[in-house]
Amino acid sequence: MNSSPPLLVRGRVLSFRREPLAHDDLAACLYEEDGAVLVRDGKIVAVGDHATVSAQGPDATVADHRPHLVLPGFIDAHLHMPQMQVIASYGAELLDWLNTYTFPEETKFRDAQHARRIARLFLDETVRHGTTTVAAYCSVHPQSADALFEEAEARGMMIIAGKVMMDRNAPDGVTDTPQSSYDDSKSLIRRWHGRGRARYAITPRFAITSTPAQMEIAQALAAEHPGCWIQTHLSENRDEIAFACELFPEARDYTDIYERYGLLGTRSLLGHCIHLSEREASAMAASGSVAVFCPTSNLFLGSGLFPYFRNRRRDLPMRVATATDVGGGTNYSMLRTMDEAYKVIALQGEKLNPLASFWQITHGNAEALSIADCVGTLEPGTDADLVVLDARATPAMALRMETVTTLAEELFLLQTLGDDRAVAEVYVAGRAGKGTVGASSPRNVDHPAVAGL
Ligand SMILES: [Zn+2]
Repeated sequence: MNSSPPLLVRGRVLSFRREPLAHDDLAACLYEEDGAVLVRDGKIVAVGDHATVSAQGPDATVADHRPHLVLPGFIDAHLHMPQMQVIASYGAELLDWLNTYTFPEETKFRDAQHARRIARLFLDETVRHGTTTVAAYCSVHPQSADALFEEAEARGMMIIAGKVMMDRNAPDGVTDTPQSSYDDSKSLIRRWHGRGRARYAITPRFAITSTPAQMEIAQALAAEHPGCWIQTHLSENRDEIAFACELFPEARDYTDIYERYGLLGTRSLLGHCIHLSEREASAMAASGSVAVFCPTSNLFLGSGLFPYFRNRRRDLPMRVATATDVGGGTNYSMLRTMDEAYKVIALQGEKLNPLASFWQITHGNAEALSIADCVGTLEPGTDADLVVLDARATPAMALRMETVTTLAEELFLLQTLGDDRAVAEVYVAGRAGKGTVGASSPRNVDHPAVAGL
């Protein structure tokens, strides 16, 4: 097999060995002021100081990003591909927001051409923001999942995704049946799970939109495919909790609904988990399930404040990931996400240190998604997914950088003021490119005049 010439990515290299416990816990970090990452055939083969690493690849093509930071690409643990045209919809809480905006929008994804266009723009947008792996929901239509997996495969991108299963409390255009959700999920798993970097998530949307019969189907799929992930929503909003418990009166609480159907476990990603009781938090932790904290969404929809440290400091800690939850979330950027996470945590009297924040969106999310053997660190042997960050990307950032003296201060500035403009470059499996916006870009579509202004 012919291998492509190696690539040497030079810059201030930063990754995390474990969670940093304080703003000066540099022992948790791998940090090289003049560092480099050597990439061959999409994999990291060496990382460290530039002199040592460059000697291992004398024939390498050099991408010199000094003085920028080079980190593992960001990981977004929960977002919705079909909601790109739902983001920024005004004035609703969760259940109204779903019924008024989201479900009507998702009906459009029965059209495979529309699904392909949005899948392309979705990955353009996430990559442009420095995110190289997503755990994403597609619509109920299997063609929406095919579209996303095809687009990710073309870019060599690692994604976890699945078609949502929903057979009640939603319009006809976005519902399936227990049997069709089984058949469609099964054939998507056969087609995609483990093909290249694709991974499948069995995706009952949430207890409200699945009948007991469909929950049994989700349980059967999970039992038949223990290597697949499970993603759903839990305890986002008070009305949602009451409605879910009303629909499953035999369950002790909302979490127990998923427990009863065997849907908790180490590969289970449960979006939100804001209002859990002590019993529910114990069940989450004991099962190794992952609570996914989506701060911009939780603030935007007025859902509540996720108890980040209370969950993580339990006797048996809960596993936690962070995510944008686009389109309930208001930004594709994991930097913007952690800025809002910092504020949500501050409102509960705690502070998340900047090193820990960047650990969370790289190694922390990789561990939560059980993919840290592939991504989230710069360990040799892992996939070369990298983000290059410029802390002077805007005039305001450049001015503030004049007074920055430590790495932690620089990271906090990036998180507080940064967004896609701070992303200087992105590498997906060693391939450079902040997205492939092409013929499908909205910029090239004729815009109808906005009516009613
Ligand atoms: Zn969601």
